[in-house]
Amino acid sequence: MSKNKAKIAIVGGGIAGSTAALLLSRTDAEITLFEKTPSLVSGPPFCHLHAGGNLYPEISDEQCLTLLKQSIDFARLYPYGVDHRPTVIALPEYCSRRTGHLLPRLQKLQAHYETLIEDDVKNKVLGDPSVYFKLYDRAQIETLRNKEIVAIPKTLDEWMIPFAKETDLDKIQFPVILVQEYGLNLFRIGARLMLSLDAHPSVDLRLSTSVTKIEKNDDQWILHSNTHNTEQTENFDYLINAAGYQTGKIDDMIGVSCQRMVEFKAAYVSQWENEATHLWPEIIFQGERGTPRGMGQFTPYPQGYFQLHGMTKDITLYEGGLVASTALSCQPKLPQNFIEKIEDSWRWEETVERTKKAIEHLARFIPSFATAKVGSKPLFGAQQIPGTDPTLRVAEVAFALPRYARCEIVKVSSTIDMSHAILDDLVKLGLIEASAHNTVAFETMQQTREENITKQAEVLCQMREYPKALAHRCVPEASN
Ligand SMILES: Cc1cc2nc3c(=O)[nH]c(=O)nc-3n(C[C@H](O)[C@H](O)[C@H](O)COP(=O)(O)OP(=O)(O)OC[C@H]3O[C@@H](n4cnc5c(N)ncnc54)[C@H](O)[C@@H]3O)c2cc1C
Repeated sequence: MSKNKAKIAIVGGGIAGSTAALLLSRTDAEITLFEKTPSLVSGPPFCHLHAGGNLYPEISDEQCLTLLKQSIDFARLYPYGVDHRPTVIALPEYCSRRTGHLLPRLQKLQAHYETLIEDDVKNKVLGDPSVYFKLYDRAQIETLRNKEIVAIPKTLDEWMIPFAKETDLDKIQFPVILVQEYGLNLFRIGARLMLSLDAHPSVDLRLSTSVTKIEKNDDQWILHSNTHNTEQTENFDYLINAAGYQTGKIDDMIGVSCQRMVEFKAAYVSQWENEATHLWPEIIFQGERGTPRGMGQFTPYPQGYFQLHGMTKDITLYEGGLVASTALSCQPKLPQNFIEKIEDSWRWEETVERTKKAIEHLARFIPSFATAKVGSKPLFGAQQIPGTDPTLRVAEVAFALPRYARCEIVKVSSTIDMSHAILDDLVKLGLIEASAHNTVAFETMQQTREENITKQAEVLCQMREYPKALAHRCVPEASN
């Protein structure tokens, strides 16, 4: 074990780099987190926890069970970032698959959730496992249609009422599924990380700082960085590449090869004034990705804001938006129009055009939603997918060189397993004490008050030109 404290550089303050910094800050290492933008978690958006991968019928049961466990850990680490509203999964009547096809997986997930609670009761973050999911036939939905909306729903049936009232029941199959898949609020998680990491004595948070060049000298990484035109060069014992869709640029700087893809996607923010005071569940209308009938996702935020995905090429997905690395470079090259959106901004006409298409996509099933309007610019970005399978949903980290970790998450909940694998590597190298490897007691890390998180999340919304309502959870804070 070296006598000096290990110096760890993390390049990228997205959810991967920031979660790694948060969990490594419990060791005696000195951490420097470089982020080129002025705030943390400013990369591609995330709004679903994916606790069970129920939005992805095409992925393996194994990936779904991993997502369930990783999501429970994530919800325990970031409780104030979770929006506790369930998700309706409906199959359109034109789908050749039947709802029954999804049941064996749901039963496996329910059983696994029960086991995780038996292992540790603190894992009970998705409600009572006996109601992890519930099926509704048409008669039950028609009964709920005649019930009064409940201001703050407590039961699964109460959550179903708005769906029952507004959905065109002739357009969907029965049974419909309600499952404890919750939402995530990226502004609140970014806020929590800004507050915790800025105040932490062993984390040196370098915002507005780009890493421009990396060299290796024996066991040391030499990082060159630039903050507001001031250059700096420093040595580190260990390098974590958490540069998101730009991890390939760091790989290219240090000369390692790899295969990966990068995908640009966008979700649209609408405002539906009719529903400004009602709490809705998330609603998923399944469909074949990349076709005009691609999945539609209706994600509620407070004050009548709804985030929309339509997995078609003229809504969430883009022609030319999925690119791969080459033998010459680890960094897949996105066409310039996507880079301009990420680094500069959106044209308002395109925002309106795509948001309207997203509203129409959802209004096929919820006709009254056709009156919704554009709520703000989209939530968008590019993300990496390691390897060559674009349907991969679970990945964590690769160790392509000694003293080098490349974060490769596809879903944000994988960041905790990712951080634990990095901790293992640091212990193996003798850079930190083995005791740091013990499972992190997430609950002991909740030192940030919820009201401070909300205030900071509102600041992030303003900085990024989104409505302040997006800084809040749908289910009022006090009633969680
Ligand atoms: C439309 C859309 C919706 C999504 N929805 C979900 C969802 O519901 N749930 C979910 O789990 N996942 C979702 N994802 C995926 C999720 O957004 C990503 O997996 C995740 O945000 C990636 O985090 P990251 O930290 O790896 O990368 P990023 O967030 O991209 O962070 C990388 C950071 O590195 C910084 N950086 C890069 N190069 C340098 C450098 N040289 N110097 C300094 N800083 C640098 C960047 O500025 C950036 O902040 C979605 C993705 C998209 C595009």
